[in-house]
Amino acid sequence: MKTIFLALGTNLGDRLANLSAAIDSLAPEIRVTRKSSVYETPPWGFTEQPAFLNMVIAAETSLEPRALLEYLKKRENELGRVKSFRNGPRQIDLDILFYENLILDEFFLTIPHPRLHERAFVLVPLAEIAPEFEHPLLKKSIAELLRDVDASGITPFSV
Ligand code: AMP
Repeated sequence: MKTIFLALGTNLGDRLANLSAAIDSLAPEIRVTRKSSVYETPPWGFTEQPAFLNMVIAAETSLEPRALLEYLKKRENELGRVKSFRNGPRQIDLDILFYENLILDEFFLTIPHPRLHERAFVLVPLAEIAPEFEHPLLKKSIAELLRDVDASGITPFSV
């Protein structure tokens, strides 16, 4: 079994329901071991769209990286994700942040996720469940990476 970290994001429909449906959809190939809290985040990139809910999970899987990406894309499609534009609104977005300490740079898959260290909406929830985890390329812990970004817009989401 390999340890992975995934980021979840949603800004359409019932956002909390989208997050829990996404987590439920991961079995049997992905076993969730830790979940962060849920955070509300101002839209990223294209700003004329609803706010996102974001969270991060740690999990175990025996899927290889490319199979994992395919598996996640299938789950996204089943959960009703309609094709949107880059950084546009979405029902659910599932990203691979880390796959053990693997470094991979392929056309369709880059691990660690190439923008995770710039994104407070990823680093805040990630620091909650894995502050000591070291980014295998940047050689900094998640807690250190978080210190380098502006996290002021990321607020805990409570219902
Ligand atoms: P997005 O529309 O932001 O969800 O982008 C999804 C596309 O990014 C997928 O079709 C993947 O081929 C590509 N991609 C590259 N690296 C990753 C990664 N670490 N996790 C998820 N998707 C990735």
